[in-house]
Amino acid sequence: MRSVDEHRRIALEAVSPLEPITLPLLDAAGCVLAEDVTAAWPLPSFDNSSMDGYAVLAADVATASADSPVELAVVDDVPAGYRATERVSPGRAIRIMTGAPLPDGADAVVPVEATDAGTQRVRIASPVAAGSYIRRAGEDVVAGTPVLEVGTVLTARSIALATAVGRAEVRVHPRPRVVVISTGNELVDPGVPLRHGLIADSNSVMLVTAAREAGATAYRAGPVPDDEDRLMATLDDQLVRADLVITSGGVSMGAYDTVKAVLSRIGTVEFVKVAMQPGMPQGFGVLGDDAVPIATLPGNPVSAYVSFEIFVRPLIRRMMGFRDVHRPVVSAVCTAPFDSPAGKTQFARVQLRVEDGRYVAHPEGAQGSHILGGLARADALAVVPPEVTRIEAGDLITVIDLGRDAP
Ligand code: AMP
Ligand code: MG
Repeated sequence: MRSVDEHRRIALEAVSPLEPITLPLLDAAGCVLAEDVTAAWPLPSFDNSSMDGYAVLAADVATASADSPVELAVVDDVPAGYRATERVSPGRAIRIMTGAPLPDGADAVVPVEATDAGTQRVRIASPVAAGSYIRRAGEDVVAGTPVLEVGTVLTARSIALATAVGRAEVRVHPRPRVVVISTGNELVDPGVPLRHGLIADSNSVMLVTAAREAGATAYRAGPVPDDEDRLMATLDDQLVRADLVITSGGVSMGAYDTVKAVLSRIGTVEFVKVAMQPGMPQGFGVLGDDAVPIATLPGNPVSAYVSFEIFVRPLIRRMMGFRDVHRPVVSAVCTAPFDSPAGKTQFARVQLRVEDGRYVAHPEGAQGSHILGGLARADALAVVPPEVTRIEAGDLITVIDLGRDAP
């Protein structure tokens, strides 16, 4: 049997970051930069006020106090987006709003709170030091310097910076197009009433969602019946729009395991047993003239999900250009005992919480590979190594954090 790490390494070596493309910033959100972004201009690009108030000469208001305010003539008014037409000079102030360019002649801003807010003449009740409440050009970013490096993930924060320094588009690694094909005679589309023996095709919906959450553009194909010609035809149709194909079902030892039957004949996909639970039967290889990578996942829902997390999500992240393609892993105190199979890495479904300042993992009761309810409640996977056969309450375990939204 192949180890989990070995299978993942073989799959990861078969993919590389997709050729960069240029995208408008909003479409590039979530993607990884394939170029350095350099500032076309400084930030701020001009000296401006950090407060609503009055642009003044600091020397004019040096003696100001509540008991003996200094009175200045208000000779102009500058909202953000405008420039003053007058100058500040001794005895003259200009009313100014946050973000408006500092008028010529001024060397400080007095916040409106320290004044009577006059519009013709203003009484100022406290002094300010020269340079106060002025945001200087270039104090944030110097023109011509790189502000975002190759490999940066475009988040709300970094995309704001790219925009502020002059960009509308950036070069990024595109989102991989992932096609999910579910197989099985027993599968029906979501919402279709079931005859006895049929089940809803939950895997394709789950895997498309998981692929999208990983950053891919994912499509659902199928369900395809366990028929070799139908499966071949679907693969042929779908390959043209795929950077990665995922199949679900039909890879075990059963008589109708069509995925394995069809792809074994072609010879470019390897079917192996991986020493893990759930998810032992795995297949990985390439298909078609373009050698599109394909991962064939087992059909049991929990097996399919765990296989996606452990083997497929890293492929999507690598194609997107992420340097670290793995989920965050933490150490957590396990709150209940459970058994683990000898010789296999177990991925047990747990709820990960922070209690009293430390991570704790609450195992979901039943760990069968068909237990979708437990999978849905879990938000983390405990990783139990092959040589460990029992976890006791209080043991420290390794947990893959799948991320969660607080209810
Ligand atoms: P298989 O890997 O095809 O032998 O399927 C193993 C188990 O997973 C069977 O109980 C199937 O009914 C179930 N299964 C297979 N495909 C899906 C699917 N797309 N959605 C939900 N369950 C599935
Ligand atoms: Mg099947």
